[in-house]
Amino acid sequence: MLRKLYPKLYLGSIFELDLEALKKEGIKGLIFDIDNTLVPYDVAEPTKEIIELFNTLRNETFKICLMSNNVEDRVMRFNQNLKVFAIHKSGKPRIKSFKRALELMDLSKEEVAIVGDQIFTDVYGGNRMGVKTILVQPVSDKDEWMTKIKRGLEQRVIKLYEKHGK
Ligand SMILES: [Mg+2]
Repeated sequence: MLRKLYPKLYLGSIFELDLEALKKEGIKGLIFDIDNTLVPYDVAEPTKEIIELFNTLRNETFKICLMSNNVEDRVMRFNQNLKVFAIHKSGKPRIKSFKRALELMDLSKEEVAIVGDQIFTDVYGGNRMGVKTILVQPVSDKDEWMTKIKRGLEQRVIKLYEKHGK
């Protein structure tokens, strides 16, 4: 059970992604959580740095899919200028939307990684689906109340991961 909560990789932020290493592993598509992975949950649009990163990813021929448990308006507005695949109300950690993301990108699970800030949604769901899971530190310490409750538990899982999981 605990294994399913451990990410394959734990990074400080999305900007630490090693694109060459991912390519070497055969990763061709990236699923990104939005809230607190790319921007704080109360920031509506991508920053200049995110737009640049996504352009780089595209130039490196990665396919990209946003996947958020947040509502349609939030996801659509965030994606307005990025224009990547996007799934709202994804219901992570359920794997239904992961399957949808693979379909949209036309890739197999071995070719995809999810990048997210939450263990119980992004990492657990990704591990259940069998994609590579990359945990990043949340970009802001502001969380919605539900997330705040889970952070304490997450910290304990991360400590265990750092001790035993790597
Ligand atoms: Mg998140």
